[in-house]
Amino acid sequence: MAGLYIHIPFCRRKCVYCAFYSTTAFDDAKVEAYRHALAEEARWFSEHYLDGRKAALETLYIGGGTPSLLPVDFYVRLIADLETFFNFSDCREVSFEANPEHLDYGYLRDLRQYTPVRRLSIGVQSFRDDDLKRLNRCHTGKEAVQAVENAWRIGFENLSADLIYGLWEEGGSVRWKENLACLEALGLPHFSAYALSLEPRTRLWKQVEQGKARMASDEELELEYRELQCFAKEHGYLLYEISNLAKPGFEAIHNSNYWRNIPYVGLGASAHSYWGKERFWNTACLDDYLKDATGAKGREVLSEEDVYHEYVMTALRTIGGVKKSKLSGFSESLQQEFRLRVVHEMEAGNLVEKEDAYVVAEDRRLLTDLIAGTFF
Ligand code: SF4
Repeated sequence: MAGLYIHIPFCRRKCVYCAFYSTTAFDDAKVEAYRHALAEEARWFSEHYLDGRKAALETLYIGGGTPSLLPVDFYVRLIADLETFFNFSDCREVSFEANPEHLDYGYLRDLRQYTPVRRLSIGVQSFRDDDLKRLNRCHTGKEAVQAVENAWRIGFENLSADLIYGLWEEGGSVRWKENLACLEALGLPHFSAYALSLEPRTRLWKQVEQGKARMASDEELELEYRELQCFAKEHGYLLYEISNLAKPGFEAIHNSNYWRNIPYVGLGASAHSYWGKERFWNTACLDDYLKDATGAKGREVLSEEDVYHEYVMTALRTIGGVKKSKLSGFSESLQQEFRLRVVHEMEAGNLVEKEDAYVVAEDRRLLTDLIAGTFF
């Protein structure tokens, strides 16, 4: 079983922090051409990697960009096209990223009625208008609340929201707590909480460079992450990955499979795939993708060491940690390397041993990427 990711590279305008590939320059003709290109790429994948057979899918994730910017009919037709190349019959999770301003009653009703989408990941980011303005989001806090309420009313049960913390240099923790309280009041069973990060070539990067904006201090980030940990405990969310929280039974299957090295196919401009021992990725340019959607722009064959590094990096981010049983599948020299390092990290209080695994100590989880980095 595999995962399928479809990238929808269209946005109404660019959020200041965003480094994902998307474009605001598109029209109906390009959207229609994009649907054909996605089907063409799916055909190429099936012929090239599976001798024309269909890959059995466990999950489908439609992300972006802003998938909810396109009409439901686009997805009805796209999924019908893709059924020629993928087997959806045992799909356990179909997720759809959406922005609050698009989630009116009619859109959600049609999405649920005419497509297999059952899980919504709503790009809330904050329920506060001053935060949203700073981020250049297209919606208000009120619209975010309305979107979640509409989704409940239509019958979506598997709902998630993205939130951003560390929005202000200092003093942001009161606002952050308000956002968490809002989320709890809406009864969302899953959410992702990301620290605002500074990515090259974004507007935020420029603002910071010109002294027009400042990032949250390390102390502020730590404070807000600790509040997230407390909130999770108080309200029954499991912080099952450094940035993902779920009520029992609502952990995201598609993303969890990324962390478990399950193969996936990514279709669309800038999409990445992981198949066999290969990683390959598409052009991050809509026009180039429309000219030729077949064949990847880049590829690499992963060595055993690459697979080991990726496993340690992703497993440490999760609550399950690095499994001893999984480590035993790597060569003796890599296992030896791990053993040497793990002793040091345990002595420093960064890692703890839990049954069959090594996990990041609870009070060091914000430092996970730094700790994982010491293994390379
Ligand atoms: S809507 Fe999403 S993909 Fe589009 S610019 Fe904003 S954060 Fe990026």
